[in-house]
Amino acid sequence: MKIHEYQSKELFKKYNVPIPEGGIAFTADEATAVAEKLGSFPVVVKAQIHAGGRGKGGGVKLANSAEEAKRLADEIIGMNLVTHQTGPEGRLVKKVLVEQGLNIEKELYLSIIPDRATAKVVIMASEAGGMDIEEVAAKTPEKIIRIHINPLLGIQGYHCREAGFGLNLSPPAMKLFQPMLRNLYNLFMNCDCSLLEINPLVITKEETVIALDAKINFDDNAMFRHKDILEYRDLDEEDPLEIEASKYNLNYINLDGNVGNMVNGAGLAMATMDIIKRSGAEPANFLDVGGGASAEMVENGFKIILSDENVKGILINIFGGILRCDVLAQGVVEAAKKTGINVPVVVRMEGTNVDEGQKILSESGLKLISAVDLKDAAQKVAEIVN
Ligand code: ADP
Ligand code: MG
Repeated sequence: MKIHEYQSKELFKKYNVPIPEGGIAFTADEATAVAEKLGSFPVVVKAQIHAGGRGKGGGVKLANSAEEAKRLADEIIGMNLVTHQTGPEGRLVKKVLVEQGLNIEKELYLSIIPDRATAKVVIMASEAGGMDIEEVAAKTPEKIIRIHINPLLGIQGYHCREAGFGLNLSPPAMKLFQPMLRNLYNLFMNCDCSLLEINPLVITKEETVIALDAKINFDDNAMFRHKDILEYRDLDEEDPLEIEASKYNLNYINLDGNVGNMVNGAGLAMATMDIIKRSGAEPANFLDVGGGASAEMVENGFKIILSDENVKGILINIFGGILRCDVLAQGVVEAAKKTGINVPVVVRMEGTNVDEGQKILSESGLKLISAVDLKDAAQKVAEIVN
């Protein structure tokens, strides 16, 4: 799960990580009120969307008066912000963070992520922070240092010193940085984060260290124990079909192609997407209905695929193990009857109760195309959409 910058900064505040003074605004008038309350200028007006690169995309602007803050907020709220992370379609901005403008001396990069290869938590830091960090990572990766922490032992003083020295901090900055890094690590662990990133972490001209930007992602599988963080979920920022799928516990991801596909098992779903591509077509989604799916789940999954306007053909690929073929067939038939299928559907089914499943499909009166194996299925559906 992703949250907004202003929400991440609320968590920072709870964990005593220094952030600029500021407040959220949904309208230009609210933005003016926040700017007036801050009292000193410049202030910065920042678009709040679940994507980075806002600065370069024109979503972060400096205002020298409350009137200017109002004008900028008016401009940014309602704009379709396009950044390298939103894709060309961009994202509608619904709110802005108005915060104190800082006297920046230097922009650093700091992040914490799990490292699966070493089963440790890794802190990444770089002196070359700011809006071009992607370029730094690509061209001069040696400018990014990595510090591995054994999660069972936790963060130690030497980790913090290593990070601080790696960032070339002055002694006063070093003193502020160490407890801050500890607090960030604790936040990361306590809240089951999958990513915590501050870019830039700034050293001000006054030699203070402040998190100017804040990005946190959480492990979806741990959210059941963080009801307070779940409150931060912003459905406006999520794909409507994915929201619908999450209501039914379906593992669904919307993609750009036009072959809808429904599969049981994540591995088989990945293989199905590969073979669709190999046959010259593009998958419209990833959907794993799960090994123990009920007819109702299959029905809901099928409805979600059908409601994607890009879908021009559907491939159902089921290997019946725990999910029996007759249960699947029942779900497909129910969904098709309720929603009305408007595109050709190719079915490849194998495994438990396959004969009963085939029978249900063939007696349903629906125009389904059956395939003998996975390759045949993928070729048939690719021919249809192409
Ligand atoms: P993004 O990463 O989405 O581009 P940031 O929050 O990192 O957004 O802001 C982009 C840039 O804008 C920063 O690198 C910084 O130079 C400037 N900036 C952002 N907030 C402030 C602030 N409060 N004071 C001064 N400059 C800021
Ligand atoms: Mg940033």
